[in-house]
Amino acid sequence: MSVAAQKETREFQTEVRQLLDLMIHSLYSNREIFLRELISNASDAADKLRFQALQDENLLEGDGELAIHVSYDKDARTLTVRDNGVGMNRDEVQENLGTIARSGTREFLKQLSGDQAKDSRLIGQFGVGFYSAFIVADHVTVLTRKAGAPAVEGVRWESAGDGQYVIETVERPQRGTEVILQLKEDADEFLDGYRLRQIIRTYSDHIDLPIRMPEEAHGDEEQDKEPGEETVNKANALWMRPKNEISDEQYIEFYKHVAHDFEEPLCWMHNKVEGNQSYTSLLYIPRRAPFDLWDRDTGHGVKLYVKRVFIMDDADQLMPRYLRFVRGVIDSDDLPLNVSREILQHNRQIDRIRAASVKRVLDQLEKLADKEPERYADFWKTFGRVLKEGPAEDFGNRERIAGLLRFASTHSDQPDETVSLKDYIGRMKDGQEAIYYVTADSFNAARNSPHLEVFRKHGIEVLLLGDPVDEWAVSHLQEFDGKRLVSAAKGELDLEKLGASEEDKASQEQAEEALKPLVERLQKALGDKVEAVRISRRLTDSPACLVVGEHEFALSMQRMLKAAGHPFPSGKPSLEVNPDHVLVERLRNLDDEARVEEWAHVLYDQALLMEGGQLEDPAAFVQRVNSLLARE
Ligand code: ADP
Ligand code: MG
Repeated sequence: MSVAAQKETREFQTEVRQLLDLMIHSLYSNREIFLRELISNASDAADKLRFQALQDENLLEGDGELAIHVSYDKDARTLTVRDNGVGMNRDEVQENLGTIARSGTREFLKQLSGDQAKDSRLIGQFGVGFYSAFIVADHVTVLTRKAGAPAVEGVRWESAGDGQYVIETVERPQRGTEVILQLKEDADEFLDGYRLRQIIRTYSDHIDLPIRMPEEAHGDEEQDKEPGEETVNKANALWMRPKNEISDEQYIEFYKHVAHDFEEPLCWMHNKVEGNQSYTSLLYIPRRAPFDLWDRDTGHGVKLYVKRVFIMDDADQLMPRYLRFVRGVIDSDDLPLNVSREILQHNRQIDRIRAASVKRVLDQLEKLADKEPERYADFWKTFGRVLKEGPAEDFGNRERIAGLLRFASTHSDQPDETVSLKDYIGRMKDGQEAIYYVTADSFNAARNSPHLEVFRKHGIEVLLLGDPVDEWAVSHLQEFDGKRLVSAAKGELDLEKLGASEEDKASQEQAEEALKPLVERLQKALGDKVEAVRISRRLTDSPACLVVGEHEFALSMQRMLKAAGHPFPSGKPSLEVNPDHVLVERLRNLDDEARVEEWAHVLYDQALLMEGGQLEDPAAFVQRVNSLLARE
């Protein structure tokens, strides 16, 4: 390596400069979080080394006792955090400590408001990693050497947080990383062993390797005795401790660490399973949706450990997609340490762990829904859309998941007052056999759907599904508690079951007979635009509506699929006309065939508009309406 390449000054990436600026110039409410961040990095580095050493024991270089050391020097005003983890080579230092790679940090930057007080609170919550060292230090030095690399490939990185850093190759016999903070004038509080211990116990107690500090020297000790070191934290994996020895604060702090979340979780489940298969799980349901919840392929899901050794992040075999908001740790005693993602895919033990974990999450959600409906409602608002993927994904738990779903309904006609299928069944009318729903592009479109008219007339509740995923979710549900889910907008309705009287039925049949000629004329006018024209049993106010076949997608869903570039075979909708509507009545007596044709198209287009559809030829529609209006 040339001398020039050995020491160079480089610019930070723009985003890093912004971040540093904020760290250095803002006022901070809880700036002690920098220590949590540095310790968390040291702990990650130890996890990585332990994992890599499973393949190559030489990486441990004969020193397998991993630990973190925190020390300070009052005279030099320095604070040092040292680990013997995996370390970094020169390229990695440049990549990790010169740019912002983590999407979470970029998200943080997006959330910045420019209001100092607010933004500094955000830092306290997010942490934003290594760079938070500059909250308390005006100069940071990092010394590191990657595990397995020769001593001459050590790296020294140094920055005053002013837009540049200096990087240099140095000799470094010890493996791992040492971060040395030159503390700012006003950061004296961190040159105090008691204060540091208190911070470590508050934020880092759950870290599962020892965090050591030099023992405090007491005045009455023998002069020549070297001060030893003591372990400050509990230093065992939090999830391995008995439940009754873990405080809520500790559970919460651990959650923030594993989930990279700054808010408290909604709840947690801690279980130890022993028997022919032993494992421990500590699972959390967050309160807040992570920014990447909708990306089905990312997220810090559940971490897999084997015998306390971290194996992988986001092990998606441990949790189905529809529970991808769940965070936490599963630690197996039986899996091989060299387990890979491929092995996990076909592993019966993993399948069993997953099934049991899913069951625990569903149990917990049911309990919450039952005992604390308001908190459940908050959960539903945040994660309901993800849970709706459940019936399609998890056949075995379909009924249980269905019980957890919530829908808006004509019971209240309010978008936020949702009901469960159980509530619905409790309100079903005598003789009503099915659970009715209507799907549309939005809540309002669903609430005002012409398909609801007859249901409103008979006082029958209908679920209002205004979310595009709803149609897909219910199509996988089909039934709940023995009751079929039936779309109010599809197929032919059976009036009798909706509580219609014998009289209604008779008058319906009469109307059908009387309107037969009109139906035929409309049919002829519309040609192959429709499957059929028929007399409606669903309308009380609107003159006409479009109805798709019982096994077809709703029109809103059809449009969505087409827009997304998924053409699919679909039949044409049928046009239903309201025999009691004045327009239909008038049409019956019209003998001008050209005008009947005009009307037929207007009725069809109106019905299409009511379904939220787009007219094929809007100009023709306007022309026809105007021509009809002009004739009045
Ligand atoms: P994060 O920890 O969320 O990735 P940080 O800003 O805290 O973000 O750290 C950035 C990266 O720097 C880490 O991902 C890691 O690769 C590297 N790093 C930081 N500290 C250490 C350390 N003590 N040992 C090894 N690598 C480290
Ligand atoms: Mg970090």
